[in-house]
Amino acid sequence: MSSTLIIGAGPTGLAAALFLAERGVSPRIVEQAAEPSPYSKAFGVNPRTLSLLEGTGVTERLLSQGRRMTALNVWRRGRNCFRLDLAPVDHRYPFMLIHSQAESEAALADALAERGIGVERGVAFEGIEHGPAGLCVELRHRGGRAEETTAAVLLAADGAGSSVRKALGVDFPGSAFEEPWRLYDLVLDIPLAPDEAHAFLLDGGAAFAVRVRGDVWRLLGNVPDLPERLPETTAGRVTWESDFGISHRLAERLQVGAVCLAGDAAHIHSGLGARGMNLGIEDAYVFAVLASDGRIGEYDALRRPVVAKVMRQVERLTAVPRGRSFIAHLVRTLLPVLSPIMPAFAGSARTFILGLDHDVALSRGTP
Ligand SMILES: Cc1cc2nc3c(=O)[nH]c(=O)nc-3n(C[C@H](O)[C@H](O)[C@H](O)COP(=O)(O)OP(=O)(O)OC[C@H]3O[C@@H](n4cnc5c(N)ncnc54)[C@H](O)[C@@H]3O)c2cc1C
Repeated sequence: MSSTLIIGAGPTGLAAALFLAERGVSPRIVEQAAEPSPYSKAFGVNPRTLSLLEGTGVTERLLSQGRRMTALNVWRRGRNCFRLDLAPVDHRYPFMLIHSQAESEAALADALAERGIGVERGVAFEGIEHGPAGLCVELRHRGGRAEETTAAVLLAADGAGSSVRKALGVDFPGSAFEEPWRLYDLVLDIPLAPDEAHAFLLDGGAAFAVRVRGDVWRLLGNVPDLPERLPETTAGRVTWESDFGISHRLAERLQVGAVCLAGDAAHIHSGLGARGMNLGIEDAYVFAVLASDGRIGEYDALRRPVVAKVMRQVERLTAVPRGRSFIAHLVRTLLPVLSPIMPAFAGSARTFILGLDHDVALSRGTP
């Protein structure tokens, strides 16, 4: 019997396995995909993630490969109405690290392999029962072989469509924006600071641009003809483009007995604030500490308030660039004239963007 079983080897599952290994627990981690995904949804690694992974070798590798994003600018009708310098924050990593999700996952998997733990690829979760001897789990290997295994503790890190969550009958309530958002990784000749992020409040929506490497930028937004909407910009070769939807959903329970939900299996929200992967890695850390200390029963009570609070903030913030509500419209219209008072909000905006607006709670009462 493998006592700790992790389903899914995205950033959440890989980080959970690594945090457990650091605490002397050797988990089993299974992943249905035969190969790692080459696509990089997440590009922002926040200071919290960098400090949680310190000492594993992963932070050091990410810092050597990534780029430091040091400020955020908000533009409206060609005018910079707000510039937020990220550096004045009390943390040893006072920046957002721009690093591709595919490479972050590779760094996590390599660190795990160095500790003698390999991801079992081509193995899918199919079902679960709580039995007298612990959890009874059905797995399906590539080629069709079925396996029944047992586990004392299981982490569902199998993404937004989580089969584990569905097998447990846990609801995933929330809402979805009806409009599609478009993402491009493309060459841009753009007259803007290359190591800063840029948000453009456009008529009918918004766009965001962050340089990912060389002259390739990640551009995303909810308006048609996106690259052409940016001022004084020439768009070149597109290396990846995709549509994605934005939903805000939180599982009604983050835990059923010894089964915990983490990362996108537990919560999904807009990418604004770059929280999805980072919050999943934080879930993974809390899970690993509790599982290795025999305190797994505390997981839901510790994580739910933190995740719910972050989600509320992300949802509110996303309303402004989306621009569909009256309040959002008001904020967008008034922003240029409010510029002089914006520095008053700089401190809380900075800690929110860097994911430092809460502590990692390991006991109740530490928010
Ligand atoms: C456009 C975009 C930009 C984003 N930018 C950022 C950002 O800058 N920063 C940030 O923090 N987040 C960002 N995110 C969110 C981030 O990508 C996700 O939150 C993150 O990938 C979630 O990781 P996860 O490990 O929880 O789930 P996933 O990455 O979905 O991994 C789940 C894994 O489980 C596997 N799996 C599924 N079902 C089974 C099964 N039955 N059996 C076995 N394995 C299974 C899947 O194959 C997959 O490998 C962004 C998202 C989008 C769409």
